[in-house]
Amino acid sequence: MKTGAIDIANASALPECPGTNVAATDDAFAIVRRLRAPVWIFDIDHSRIVFANDAACTLWQAKDEAELRARDFKQDMSAMVLKRLKQYQFDFIEGDASFTEYWTIYPNGIPVSVMVVYTGIYLADGRMGMHCEVVDSKDDTPENLRSAEALLHTDVMITLYSIMGGPLYMNPAARNAAISSQHQFSDIFLNDQDHLEIMQALLEHGEHRLVAKVSTGAGARWHDISAKRCNDAATGKPAALVTAIDVTELKVARDKARYLADRDQLTGCYNRAYLQQHIEALPKDQVGLCALLYFDVDRFKQINDGFGHEMGDVVLRQLATRARLMIRSDDIIARLGGDEFVLLLHGVTQHEQLEQRVTQLRQAFSEPIHHTATHVNVTVSVGVSVFHPKDADFNAVLSNADIALYISKQQGRNKVTYFDDEIGDTVRERRQIEADIKHGLQKGEFIIHYQPRVEIQTKKIVSAEALVRWNHPKRGLIMPETFIPICEETGMIEALGQWVLEVGCNQAIEWAQQGVDIEVSINISPRQFQNEELLGTLRRYAQTPGFPQQKIELEITENVLIGDDEQIARKLHEIVELGYRIAIDDFGTGYSNLSYISRFPLNCIKIDKSFISGLPETGPIIRLILTLAKQIGVVVVAEGVETKADYDWLLEGGCDQIQGYYLSEPVPVEAFLESVPTLDQSKT
Ligand code: C2E
Ligand code: MG
Ligand code: MG
Repeated sequence: MKTGAIDIANASALPECPGTNVAATDDAFAIVRRLRAPVWIFDIDHSRIVFANDAACTLWQAKDEAELRARDFKQDMSAMVLKRLKQYQFDFIEGDASFTEYWTIYPNGIPVSVMVVYTGIYLADGRMGMHCEVVDSKDDTPENLRSAEALLHTDVMITLYSIMGGPLYMNPAARNAAISSQHQFSDIFLNDQDHLEIMQALLEHGEHRLVAKVSTGAGARWHDISAKRCNDAATGKPAALVTAIDVTELKVARDKARYLADRDQLTGCYNRAYLQQHIEALPKDQVGLCALLYFDVDRFKQINDGFGHEMGDVVLRQLATRARLMIRSDDIIARLGGDEFVLLLHGVTQHEQLEQRVTQLRQAFSEPIHHTATHVNVTVSVGVSVFHPKDADFNAVLSNADIALYISKQQGRNKVTYFDDEIGDTVRERRQIEADIKHGLQKGEFIIHYQPRVEIQTKKIVSAEALVRWNHPKRGLIMPETFIPICEETGMIEALGQWVLEVGCNQAIEWAQQGVDIEVSINISPRQFQNEELLGTLRRYAQTPGFPQQKIELEITENVLIGDDEQIARKLHEIVELGYRIAIDDFGTGYSNLSYISRFPLNCIKIDKSFISGLPETGPIIRLILTLAKQIGVVVVAEGVETKADYDWLLEGGCDQIQGYYLSEPVPVEAFLESVPTLDQSKT
């Protein structure tokens, strides 16, 4: 039997002395029995009193000690109290603990509150029991009793720490959560920084509050901690009162909500809003620069269309993962939407180093992407904007990277462009033109001039080519080579081409009604040709009663014929079947595979003006074209005829028709019919 332990089995028979340090002599035992303060020993495991002095029997309203020992206290104790007692037992075993608490007991159902000092005492069989001694208290006002009760039962963890950092007092909730009753304040923090923050604030302001990740008996948890500097009521020495609430569930839920708000669902990358916040919050005194890399997957639409959206998603996720593996921990990857990603690199000091990192990223991206049985190779276009956080305006930085990206795409994709002021000016100017064109289209600033085409033999005007001009309110008449390429690139050509087509068709109707027997030639851009709207419009006009579709010729260039032969042929056949005519414009400048002349239903070829201005050196080529065209029965037009010498050569060479300044420049429709006096009178 341990020293100071009591023998429960023989407790009633033996003159034992409960107490950890008192020898179990008859005298000592008799003294305890006679004490006026109630003293009893509680067997925590069995919820029974194993020893009680007379005062304790009176307090518990028991007839005698035997009756008290026979009581089963478990029935009257809540799960909470049981748990608390277990905790005490643990604390007694761990160290020389002692607790003083108000305890409300219910002898015969009547509540009696007493201040009790608990200490550990080994029972005869070696288990830890609890020695309970009622002490006098002069503070047992109802308010004190209630507040003491509240302290015992609350879930808020309350600990009073000494200035040395050890706990002076822990309420049951704090004891329950603590890693040990002997811990130091600093031990609870999983992040040292949090402890430092609290200590610093306590020194400076006397109090502090923060949510910190702490280590508890139940593992790592999040506690909302409030700490206040105070004095220990018992000793008057400086201390810190720390209250804590477990906010783990709340924190996890909040973190999850935050994660969802900050991230792109598909790739797990940050979103635009987060990127903006991050860039705006960068420390302004940061050393080194930042680089914003704007990535765009080349021809991503083809991946989506060709392999399906699932593959498209796989590609985006893969690229995000690869980027994440390449960047440093403080760098950021965001997806702005679609196939556009932004990487923000910090601490950029040397351009060569940055170039190297960009190259490595592109290499990582270019590795094939596998999914089920499909393999896809992707390339990316990149625009880079380097900036210092002190002048980081998010929109400006992003716009600069976007401008650089635009250049990369323009130069054929799979390229990197580093933004500088010169690039900025060029692109901004270009974008201004785009905006102006759009505006001009809405405002009706575009007009059509017509250039006559004449039959070389009969000297009769057979056709009028509709050529668009932009009547700019400030810059005057702008020729198509300035704006057609931009319209082509941006897709605005579809709207512009549609407008020209309608004006041309209406002109043909008007001439037919006036009995003027002249065709209208309308240029159709490759993009317009691919658009289904073209056929729709042509069908609509063709169905209009009396519409002279045989007087409409559509001029397409050779590159329109490159691609899916069958589809192109089907479209051309339908156009011809509707009654329209088709001409190949700028013949000889594009994809000069003459075989297509016989494969597609063509009515006319217009030899490009470069061949005419090249005469007489280009004579053999022109002759070859004329021979070939004669054999398959298409009309040949020479474009860009500027001189009588050109005209004479073409007349002799057997060309069918001519068009050029020699006859007339393109002119407004009102001047058109007077524009070609006669061939004989024309300028030389
Ligand atoms: P194009 O279809 O080959 O039109 C002939 C171009 O040659 C016209 O230039 C015309 O003014 C010019 N030209 C005519 N005779 C001579 C000459 O003797 N010498 C020289 N050096 N040039 C001559 P323009 O009007 O500037 O049009 C240029 C190009 O713009 C057109 O070439 C055509 O490809 C395109 N374009 C014009 N209007 C439209 C349109 O409505 N839609 C589309 N898609 N393209 C158009
Ligand atoms: Mg043309
Ligand atoms: Mg041409």
